[in-house]
Amino acid sequence: MKLLSTANPKIQKGTKLGYLSFILHLAPATLSGKETCPKRTAGCTAACLNTAGRGGMFKRGENTNMIQQARIRKTKEFFENRDQFMKDLYHDVRKGIKQAERLGLTPVFRLNGTSDLAWEKYTVGTTDMNLFELFPTVQFYDYTKVLGRKVAQYPNYHLTFSAADGNDADVVKAVAQGMNVAMVFDKLPAEYMGRTVNDADEHDLRFLDPLNTIAGLKAKGRAKKDNTGFVRRVIPIIG
Ligand code: SF4
Repeated sequence: MKLLSTANPKIQKGTKLGYLSFILHLAPATLSGKETCPKRTAGCTAACLNTAGRGGMFKRGENTNMIQQARIRKTKEFFENRDQFMKDLYHDVRKGIKQAERLGLTPVFRLNGTSDLAWEKYTVGTTDMNLFELFPTVQFYDYTKVLGRKVAQYPNYHLTFSAADGNDADVVKAVAQGMNVAMVFDKLPAEYMGRTVNDADEHDLRFLDPLNTIAGLKAKGRAKKDNTGFVRRVIPIIG
């Protein structure tokens, strides 16, 4: 089963900077029947990027499509046939590294494109090693809403904490722990919580962001109508 893809417009922006990002899209929340986002919120679930781009194009009268079905198939494979899934993922990473090298680009990998799983916990085959250990010179990165993940021993795995409606206390703790935080805004401010806000829509390479900054994302699609607090409102709503 092919697991990784490069067909994401934002991911492709990274090629201008010399990186080729490979992304794994699983089915978020409980769409597959199993939870892949343990700390999701009402707002993020409703505004999830799972339905951004082609993943959100449905024929009239249908509420699924080939992309959604593929994500569900992959997620079921992850839960029901973990050993094979991790081997397939390992081989996809190897292929991705070779593909990027042929193009003269640096390969980077984001495994939680539309999920929030703790990849540090999953070993490959009989090795007792996770992907970060098996590819120690390769950069992996993700966004997460799960505080306290045990990743400090993997310098090649970068995590940005993901702010949402109702996880402000975790945001404060993440900032105290030195994590960068991603936030969705109606309009990007220059600063928020006393920290510089970077335009995180310029590319997806969060491991390049300066330390102690906020990765600001502009509300898109369904998120524009969010009223849960998932989107931070800089422009006051009048009336
Ligand atoms: S945690 Fe992330 S992937 Fe999961 S539902 Fe929320 S926004 Fe989507």
